[in-house]
Amino acid sequence: MRAKIQKSMLLVICVTLLATFLLLSTTFYVETLNDMKADVRQEAVYVQTALDISGVQYLEDMDKAQVSTRMTLINKEGEVVYDSMKDEYTFENHAEREEIKSALKKGTGEATRTSKTVGKQTYYYAIRLENGMVLRASKTIDNLIPTILRIFPYIIGIVVIMVMLAYFMAKWQTERLIAPINTLNPANPLGNDVYEELKPLLVSMDKQNRAKEDVENMRREFSANVSHELKTPLTSISGYAEIMKSGLVKEADMISFSERIYNEASRLITLIGDIIKLSKLDEENIELEKEWVDLYTLSREICSRLALTAEKRNVQIELAGEAVSYYGVRQILDEMIHNICENAIKYNVDGGRVSVWVGNTLQGMKVIVEDTGIGIPEDQKERIFERFYRVDKSHSKETGGTGLGLSIVKHGAIFHHAQIYVESEVGKGTRMEVLF
Ligand code: ATP
Ligand code: MG
Repeated sequence: MRAKIQKSMLLVICVTLLATFLLLSTTFYVETLNDMKADVRQEAVYVQTALDISGVQYLEDMDKAQVSTRMTLINKEGEVVYDSMKDEYTFENHAEREEIKSALKKGTGEATRTSKTVGKQTYYYAIRLENGMVLRASKTIDNLIPTILRIFPYIIGIVVIMVMLAYFMAKWQTERLIAPINTLNPANPLGNDVYEELKPLLVSMDKQNRAKEDVENMRREFSANVSHELKTPLTSISGYAEIMKSGLVKEADMISFSERIYNEASRLITLIGDIIKLSKLDEENIELEKEWVDLYTLSREICSRLALTAEKRNVQIELAGEAVSYYGVRQILDEMIHNICENAIKYNVDGGRVSVWVGNTLQGMKVIVEDTGIGIPEDQKERIFERFYRVDKSHSKETGGTGLGLSIVKHGAIFHHAQIYVESEVGKGTRMEVLF
């Protein structure tokens, strides 16, 4: 990460410096050029004045001094009369040169071109004298490279300083960035003193911790409940067996004692079966085979399975609706509908009725189970889906419930992404609706 920051910092520095460097050198160059041109013009005007006053004699005097500006005197015909730097081109006719033509016409003229004499870019400035001749001053122009070379060492110096600065800044910043993360207390994320940008991470860590805690608490509660539920029937079994062992039981009571032991043992088996189902549903990625299940046919099977129980309690059970094909796990769907129907029979009154309806609605496929039973108090409608929760503990004892049935229903619904709606009135009955 630090290397990345350093790299991007370096890139920014280099681009900035390069741009500044280019801008500076061009500005500098243009300035120098303008200054030079102004100097040449000024010199020309000065020499012109001198010439007007003292004639060609002045030029001969000037010859003795070393002047960097070249002075040329040209007559009306374009012949060179005087040149401060004589060479082979001096004696060419100058009449066609741009600056001379312009000076002859308008009084002054200027031009920039590569000089044949020196082979460099040269600036020319010409003025017409009183006697009709033309005085021309010229100077070669330095190209850009020397200018650049002059600034270059400074730029290198700045680059070195900047790079060092970037290195240390990046190092310092990343250390500051990392320090709170390394010293983080994951057990209490919100208790850490960190910078603003890190807060969302801590909040989500905190959420996760809480969720973990909740699951942990649920597990603990569940195992406590399980142990308790297992202990009760086992205590009875062991009690009855102890009495029988002592030989105190009369031959006639033997059957009833055995029956009690048998009942308690059956209860234990059901309970353990339920716990196994629940823990299977709890495993998040259970891979159960899904298939097309006709919920109506399934409900009919369940009803006939429960017919005997219903008869014993003198409860009438009826089924209505239409064939509904649903893609799900048959075993889980069976357990869900079975548990709801079983409850409707168990928590019913003598001579009561249970009606089951299966079919399609505008909202989706539905299984509705209605009973004319004892009903569920309003404030406990949610709680009945909790594990081991029973509304009336003493009553449940005789119906043999463990309180796990609806918990299995709830988990089955979650697995199938189904919703459960409960409507109930104490003393009148209950209506449970599963929307797939
Ligand atoms: P299990 O189903 O494990 O044998 P259970 O029937 O007691 O035991 P659940 O099916 O989870 O457990 O139901 C929880 C409680 O909700 C029941 O004990 C009962 O008090 C109440 N309940 C469930 N269905 C009905 C109903 N149709 N009418 C009245 N009360 C009901
Ligand atoms: Mg039940």
